[in-house]
Amino acid sequence: MNREAPPLELELVGMIEAAGPMPLDRYMALCLGHPLHGYYMTRDPLGRAGDFTTAPEVTQMFGEIIGIWCMQCFELMGKPQGFDLIELGPGRGTLMSDLLRAARAMPEFLQRVRIRLVEMSPVLRAAQEKSLKDAPATVTWHDSLDGVPSAATLLIANEFFDALPVRQFQRLKQGWAERAIGLGDGKLAMGLVPTSVKLPDWTADANDGDIAEMRPAASHWGASIGERLAHNLGAALIIDYGHLRSCLGDTLQAVRHHQSVSILERPGETDLTAHVDFAALGQAIHSSSAKIWPAMTQASFLHDMGLELRAGILGRNASEADKRDLSAAMERVAGPKQMGHLFKVMAATSPGLPRPHPFSG
Ligand code: SAH
Repeated sequence: MNREAPPLELELVGMIEAAGPMPLDRYMALCLGHPLHGYYMTRDPLGRAGDFTTAPEVTQMFGEIIGIWCMQCFELMGKPQGFDLIELGPGRGTLMSDLLRAARAMPEFLQRVRIRLVEMSPVLRAAQEKSLKDAPATVTWHDSLDGVPSAATLLIANEFFDALPVRQFQRLKQGWAERAIGLGDGKLAMGLVPTSVKLPDWTADANDGDIAEMRPAASHWGASIGERLAHNLGAALIIDYGHLRSCLGDTLQAVRHHQSVSILERPGETDLTAHVDFAALGQAIHSSSAKIWPAMTQASFLHDMGLELRAGILGRNASEADKRDLSAAMERVAGPKQMGHLFKVMAATSPGLPRPHPFSG
């Protein structure tokens, strides 16, 4: 099959011809967020017909449980008169809509909440508007967290941080070099360029050929969350796939139609993600004195928050087929071989806020 190159590929080739090899984070940022041809800017990638499926799209129980977590934090915060419920990268708005349904159990929460969605994609903003058209509170959209006025805060981010651009460095005999996208025979090709970046201490044991990843964008977003929690009462819940400790390894992956492909394949039409380094993200959030509650697996989080109980309630009057669907959904989000162990959940709170369940200090 000899399909025409996507418009973004032609543009990237032109940019590299003019300015030389492009660091991986710039390539990833353009592939996902180019205003005209970026992956998220032109499509809704979620669900069976798309490229990947997320936990809120698997089961309503996911958003409902996060709703229960938010209500508990609202109580720990002393039920502020007004507060912002901020979601980073809300996808189709499914998690938020399930969360708000669960929050009907606490009328004060709904009377006092302002919903703020941080979203770059016009296509997904439209989907969110549709899901939340009957929302029991005002909904406002923002381009960044820095644009959200200062106030008491509950913040949620599910599968947001894995979409943020990463840089990669490779250990060579003579030192570190940065991986960059250049050209080979006029086509995009991965190469190496010299670097003066000082890599962190955990890279000291690297052998020839090892890859280390740095996530400047994640650190930037993390620092904004930390600052917000340091200056306003609040809590944040971050859910994503990744590792608890910083470690060597190439985690950048490209997915199209639920299949793994090369990161150079059809830029702008392929999803690019990288694992989240929860240790580094925790440090970035903590840098402005917000408290970090160490990450746990998604399986432990959901079980401790009452997943079985919730499934039992939903299954009570369900048909046999619906009961089977419920157990399959539970297995998908909490099963150790599925999302349960790969995905981690980390919380951050304002200094002085009591420990949020089910985290331990
Ligand atoms: N949280 C949703 C969607 C995850 S997909 C779910 O769990 O189903 C990633 C989401 O983050 C999308 O909504 C995407 O448009 C958004 N996103 C990615 N990078 C972004 C950025 N830099 N700024 C704002 N939104 C971004």
